[in-house]
Amino acid sequence: MSVVAGVDLGGTAVNYTLVNGQERFLIEGLCEYPSLAKQGPEVCLQQIADGLKVATDRTGVKLDDVVAVGLDTPGPASAAGLLSARGSTNFVHANWAEFDIREGLAHKLGKPVNYLNDANAAALWGHYAIFGANSKETSISIIIGTGNGGGIILDGNVVKGKNGFGGELGHVLIPYQSIAGTAGIHPKCNCGRVGDLESLCSLTAIERNLLPHFLPKYAGHELGKVDTNQAAKRVRGMADEGDALCKDIFRVQAHALGLFFDEMINTFDPNALIVGGGALEASARFQKWFMDEIRKGMPEQREEQAGIPIHVIPNGDTAGARGAAIEALKLARQSGLM
Ligand SMILES: [Zn+2]
Repeated sequence: MSVVAGVDLGGTAVNYTLVNGQERFLIEGLCEYPSLAKQGPEVCLQQIADGLKVATDRTGVKLDDVVAVGLDTPGPASAAGLLSARGSTNFVHANWAEFDIREGLAHKLGKPVNYLNDANAAALWGHYAIFGANSKETSISIIIGTGNGGGIILDGNVVKGKNGFGGELGHVLIPYQSIAGTAGIHPKCNCGRVGDLESLCSLTAIERNLLPHFLPKYAGHELGKVDTNQAAKRVRGMADEGDALCKDIFRVQAHALGLFFDEMINTFDPNALIVGGGALEASARFQKWFMDEIRKGMPEQREEQAGIPIHVIPNGDTAGARGAAIEALKLARQSGLM
């Protein structure tokens, strides 16, 4: 039985999945281990090889039956998996600089390896969950976490871009000045831009931009009495419980997404818009309120555009590995391996 593996390598954990030719995932939840990425490429690639053996043993598949591997990691890296010469927060060991992680893993495993950045892999999983593996549809995904990741699937293909920065949607500027209650805000992003999506719609945005802006308007609020990093992490839960300040913060995030999706609708005319990440890990009632607020934040749409659905991405923790596996499955089919 031929299968394809997906490996999601992060700074803190590495997660595996296996999928067969019928697109059935052989691992239901997480098959996850602490990541040894900090110890450099040699240790890390050996760990991936060992972990893949554990994953196949666990599902009763022979390692030889794995015909291809999809790998995803945080960037910055080229579209082909060459890590940045300047290093990155997740690959701090000096030997990672300019390391070809795709080729390194292919050599280690003796199998073809395909590379995606983690946000694009998660976007592909969300797309697949709606349209299946052989889709020709177009979707735009936003994953709201500490930062803001995303991905564009155009006519069924992941847009990677010339330098691997395709789908870096968090750094697209939006006309945030039109969002009610934001007068006087100066939403700066880590990238240096002011007013991009990540600067208004991420956990970091809550801590650096939204809490400092809204707290003075809610005198005596309990979140004003704790450290902003801790306070930021409590905003989603408190918004879910109906706290007015926290709901205001999530309303601004939803309206920022609405403005952003409007830009994407006019650029791509997509089949679907997809939202995922930690921000959505809340009650069904809160999710629905948030989705409705995204619509309210959009400028008026043409009738056809207004019908484009907004989906919530499923399987948060496994999304990267599963998306990487789906991309590898597609390429394995194209090259006759499956
Ligand atoms: Zn930015």
